[in-house]
Amino acid sequence: MYHVGHFIGGKHVAGNSGRTANIFNPATGEVQGTVALASVEELRAAVENAKSVQAGWAATNPQRRARVFFKFVELLNKNMNELAEMLSREHGKTIEDAKGDVIRGLEVCEFVCGIPHLQKGEFTEGAGPAIDMYSMRQPVGIGAGITPFNFPGMIPMWMFAPAIACGNAFILKPSERDPSLPIRLAELMIEAGLPAGVLNVVNGDKAAVDAILTDPDIGAVSFVGSTPIARYVYGTAAMNGKRAQCFGGAKNHMIIMPDADLDQAVNALVGAGYGSAGERCMAISVAVPVGQETADRLIEKLAPKVEELRIGPYTDEKAEMGPLVTKEAQARVMGLINRGVEEGAKLVVDGRDFKLQGYENGYFVGGCLFDNVTPEMDIYKTEIFGPVLSVVRANTYEEAIQLPIKHEYGNGVAIFTRDGDAARDFASRVNIGMIGINVPIPVPLAYHSFGGWKASSFGDLNQHGTDSIKFWTKTKTITARWPSGIKDGAEFVIPTMK
Ligand code: NAD
Repeated sequence: MYHVGHFIGGKHVAGNSGRTANIFNPATGEVQGTVALASVEELRAAVENAKSVQAGWAATNPQRRARVFFKFVELLNKNMNELAEMLSREHGKTIEDAKGDVIRGLEVCEFVCGIPHLQKGEFTEGAGPAIDMYSMRQPVGIGAGITPFNFPGMIPMWMFAPAIACGNAFILKPSERDPSLPIRLAELMIEAGLPAGVLNVVNGDKAAVDAILTDPDIGAVSFVGSTPIARYVYGTAAMNGKRAQCFGGAKNHMIIMPDADLDQAVNALVGAGYGSAGERCMAISVAVPVGQETADRLIEKLAPKVEELRIGPYTDEKAEMGPLVTKEAQARVMGLINRGVEEGAKLVVDGRDFKLQGYENGYFVGGCLFDNVTPEMDIYKTEIFGPVLSVVRANTYEEAIQLPIKHEYGNGVAIFTRDGDAARDFASRVNIGMIGINVPIPVPLAYHSFGGWKASSFGDLNQHGTDSIKFWTKTKTITARWPSGIKDGAEFVIPTMK
């Protein structure tokens, strides 16, 4: 048993609210630790601490800020095995997948090593007679990040890397399900040379989130999690005068055209549908084969692969997917599978009875495959967030493209085809933020930006890429005149650039 507190002002703080949550081992169902849940006062103390160092950090020249990230990237690589193990132990995903989680965050840190260039302003010489106009990007001040359980490495780094590189101080409120890794990342940032207090980790639940959203000194809030909470955080942050970018749930479709390489499509579906037990916001949860023949061939090739999935604890090096994160998540996913059967979908592969010897109390669900799912069904409308893939059969390309277009969510989507014209048309018309063409999980790299549309995202600037530099900075534009004739008197007419 261990206890995870907070990390404030460069120090571990045990937490004094008197409230804690259990941390489970998802593979065994055992409680392995506890995490402190912060009070409003504890959150406030972290903000005060951040405030006291922020101006000094912002005044540190951008090359020096970048050097902290050069060193941090080195430390992440050096400690990769330890970090992945720490992540898997609380999340349940396989070690290789946990490394991917850390590496995707590391890549954002590499991106912000370019902060001296990224944060440069604009300058126009001679915008008018003796007038120069320039703009600069100044940090918001104190930024906050509220993150979900499913990427405890990548998503905190999506947020704190650009925020801190831009000269902000930061309060990270990670998921209470897997809080150890975010604290370790904060320790490594100190080791990399970040001044104490610039990055603070405050663990907690709704109370800590509400304290962030109403805090007078926090200027910007980044959130990733489920759609109802994303909507709430966006509205509350905006009501309190903060800028906010809030990313929510997903239901990602993959269209399989009759001309697609079916083996390639099947392999892509297995990885994207069942990797990380389907607990990815970019998981494929709906396969849409076009034409009955494509659908029959797809199911025939897919079903045995789903049956053969190797499921195990993260300590099993050969496991392809692990358990779900909590008992509640397991019960919810089981409930949705039962609902799909009641609704009349055909459960081609039934993973409900999956049991692993020695891990009977783990939160495992075997891979499930539904055929003949229709848009009216709950299992189609709801984000299941488990190892469940639904096949919705479409007769034509047009019928297929209308499915993601009409769906509530708009995070990612993919099309598998050999036809460039169909792919072009698809990418142009579909109202989704991230599109894969023969790529099942089209997560953009760190120097592009990540974000969905519709109920998958609230706010206008995406994660990482140049969007993140805009989100974590405010633009200040200066119009400067150094005239020789100012002594000639005041002007009473509004100045225009004649
Ligand atoms: P969640 O919404 O339950 O929790 C996210 C964060 O919000 C956590 O830090 C949690 O402590 C906090 N929170 C929970 N309930 C709250 C409440 N009532 N008020 C205020 N704060 C609250 O999400 P989760 O289960 O941790 O993560 C899974 C969800 O995240 C899925 O829906 C998934 O699609 C989504 N997700 C989206 C993206 C994306 O980029 N769009 C990425 C990863 C995960």
